[in-house]
Amino acid sequence: MAECKVCQKKSFLISDYPGVCLDCIRNDFERAKPYILEAHKKTRKDFALPFIPPKEKAGILCNLCVNECRIGENEKGFCDLRKNLKGKLIGADVKRGNLSFYFDPLPTNCVADWTCPGGTGCGFPEFSYQKGPEYGYKNLAVFYNGCSYNCLFCQNWHFRDALGDREKRKLILSRDLASIIDEKTSCICFFGGDPSCQLPHSILTSKIALKNKKNRILRICWETNGSMNENLLAEIVEIALASGGCIKFDLKAWTEELNIALCGVSNKRTFDNFAKVSSYIKKRPIPPLLIASTLLVPGYVDEYEIEKISKFIYSLNKNIPYSLLAFYPSFYMHDLPTTSYPHAYRCKEVALNSGLKNVHIGNFHLLSHRY
Ligand code: SF4
Ligand code: SF4
Ligand code: SF4
Ligand SMILES: [Zn+2]
Repeated sequence: MAECKVCQKKSFLISDYPGVCLDCIRNDFERAKPYILEAHKKTRKDFALPFIPPKEKAGILCNLCVNECRIGENEKGFCDLRKNLKGKLIGADVKRGNLSFYFDPLPTNCVADWTCPGGTGCGFPEFSYQKGPEYGYKNLAVFYNGCSYNCLFCQNWHFRDALGDREKRKLILSRDLASIIDEKTSCICFFGGDPSCQLPHSILTSKIALKNKKNRILRICWETNGSMNENLLAEIVEIALASGGCIKFDLKAWTEELNIALCGVSNKRTFDNFAKVSSYIKKRPIPPLLIASTLLVPGYVDEYEIEKISKFIYSLNKNIPYSLLAFYPSFYMHDLPTTSYPHAYRCKEVALNSGLKNVHIGNFHLLSHRY
């Protein structure tokens, strides 16, 4: 049980990180902000990560994501994937990715498997090998280390150990990654961390893989917080469209202040990007091109957030699939409970009442009866 540093309210639905309650984040952000910044600063310091995106006027610009770092001499970008050494950016680039990868048999626990060709067979026969789940085939999961956000509940936080100088890792060439795809690989999922910070590498890998695949099905999908550069987004949408793949956006919160409190970064770019992708849906309605998800963080991501996000999605296209994901206490937000059944079902109802046609509760096994 933590206490809000602004209003002194105590509750098991308040986390020590960010150290303030939802009401104060929404209604008294100016007072809550210093505590929020302090909480993020501490988590960044623990992993030797830059506290805020560098903005050195004479630095080298990286505009791969919303942070648009200007990296000064000997400084590193917010994501810690690249550094300015003697006027040159070194680290992950278009050919060399900081990543790990593995194969998963289909259907897999992909966030979209309940609505995509790999999990349901939709799009058969052009984009799926089978009318139902693609048993016998596999997914190549590409986990990009590094992220443009700093979520206090990060469920993949271990990637931080693979950044900067902490691990002298060998970067992986796009052509080597593409070469491991065989005739039983029917999809690739680029995720992380977040692929936004290494999007050019995923695009090059995709192009090589598609060139090599001959007449086989090979869907290419991205799972992201949506903070990428909009020109690169347009490139990945074309690849996903043509290959039968999708772009999965994790919409963390509707209220910008809440996004900043939970993730350290604004969500404006993410919602703009989401709307841009929605304009391509009519080019290929099936299988779904765009899929949304939101983690139901107890005490923070409530029905109000879900209603606003749902109405936004509805205003773009009521058929966009929306997955509400149960939360598991993790990283700095380990003091919260898992999402409860009532919380998840209230949110599902709100999303359906907003007019969305395709709403799903994910990570169902994590739901608790606690409150
Ligand atoms: S990578 Fe794409 S096609 Fe494959 S399981 Fe995930 S969402 Fe479905
Ligand atoms: S966007 Fe995902 S990977 Fe990045 S910090 Fe947030 S939860 Fe972690
Ligand atoms: S990818 Fe984003 S966070 Fe990383 S250096 Fe570039 S602008 Fe900064
Ligand atoms: Zn409060």
